[in-house]
Amino acid sequence: MPTFLSDDEVTREAIEYDVVIVGGGPAGLSAAIRLKQLAAEQGAEIGVCVLEKGSEI
Ligand SMILES: Cc1cc2nc3c(=O)[nH]c(=O)nc-3n(C[C@H](O)[C@H](O)[C@H](O)COP(=O)(O)OP(=O)(O)OC[C@H]3O[C@@H](n4cnc5c(N)ncnc54)[C@H](O)[C@@H]3O)c2cc1C
Repeated sequence: MPTFLSDDEVTREAIEYDVVIVGGGPAGLSAAIRLKQLAAEQGAEIGVCVLEKGSEI
């Protein structure tokens, strides 16, 4: 029988991003790459996260 922890007993890590893209297909990956390119062209740093439900991109 598995043991479940309550919310109080769990420490959750949180990482902040400027942009979150759902889906690591061609559209999501190209959007992420293009955003990073545009930011780099302007000398800016942007945090982009790609969320993919599949086990591999
Ligand atoms: C059988 C087949 C053969 C093909 N062959 C070719 C080919 O030879 N050449 C060609 O140019 N195109 C081909 N295509 C078309 C090509 O695959 C699509 O045009 C392209 O993948 C679309 O990209 P996309 O990023 O819009 O969507 P997708 O590739 O579908 O990417 C979407 C991603 O989002 C993820 N996702 C969805 N919902 C969530 C969620 N809630 N949370 C996290 N992740 C999520 C999915 O797992 C997926 O990885 C083929 C398509 C099929 C079905």
